[in-house]
Parts: sequence; C-alpha cells; structure tokens
Amino acid sequence: MNDCLFCKIAQKKIPATIVYEDESVLAFKDINPKAPYHFLFIPKTHYTSLLDIQETDVLVMGQIFSAIQKVAHKLSIADFGFKTTIHTGKGGGQEVFHLHVHLLSTKV
Ligand code: AMP
Repeated sequence: MNDCLFCKIAQKKIPATIVYEDESVLAFKDINPKAPYHFLFIPKTHYTSLLDIQETDVLVMGQIFSAIQKVAHKLSIADFGFKTTIHTGKGGGQEVFHLHVHLLSTKV
C-alpha cells in the first residue's frame, strides 16, 4: 500500500525503533507508549485490519504470536506478564489501518 504508514515503516522508508524482524514480521516501539514496554507487531504484508485475515492467512498470525513470545523472552517480560490487544475499526479504537498487535507490559 502506497499510503500506509506501517507499510512505510516495514519498507524502512520511515524510521522506527525496531525490536524484532524476520521475513514476515516487524516489531517496533510505539511512538506514544502507554506503558513502560509498548511495542507494535505488524505483518510485512498489508492487511487493513483483522477483518482482512482469511483462514489461509493463519501462518502469518502464528508468526506474529511467535515473534511476540520471542520479544517477551528477550526483554524479560514474559514471566512478569504483558497484555496484547488488536484494535479493529474506528469504533474499536484503530487509528492506523495496517493490522498490528500491541504488546504492553507495566514491568518497570
Ligand atoms: P491503533 O489505535 O491500534 O491503530 O494504534 C496505532 C498505534 O500506532 C498508536 O499507539 C500510535 O502511538 C502508534 N504509532 C503511530 N505512528 C507511529 C510511528 N510512526 N511509529 C511508531 N508507532 C506509531
């Protein structure tokens, strides 16, 4: 998508503080963190929201959740605990229309 902020971050056209990357997934710090740890996990492929995900896209969702586990262990927040959220649609609080999973942890 030409005009998608998170596609531009995935393509490294806009800077972000990247905490994880593989062939399918990118994770970076939220620019306006709402907890001491606040990262966004995105598929590199554009999906507008969760509603775009088909059964055949199950692999990419698994890759996102696997990435979340890796980052949680790497940053030692797995044992403490964290919250994951997906906002879907304007009424669901979605502001950036590229599927993303928030990871938030209040560990200090
Ligand atoms: P949502 O409300 O689920 O669409 O969340 C979008 C999130 O993207 C918000 O928490 C923003 O703070 C975050 N955000 C917006 N622009 C950027 C950016 N350039 N880099 C990192 N995070 C961003």
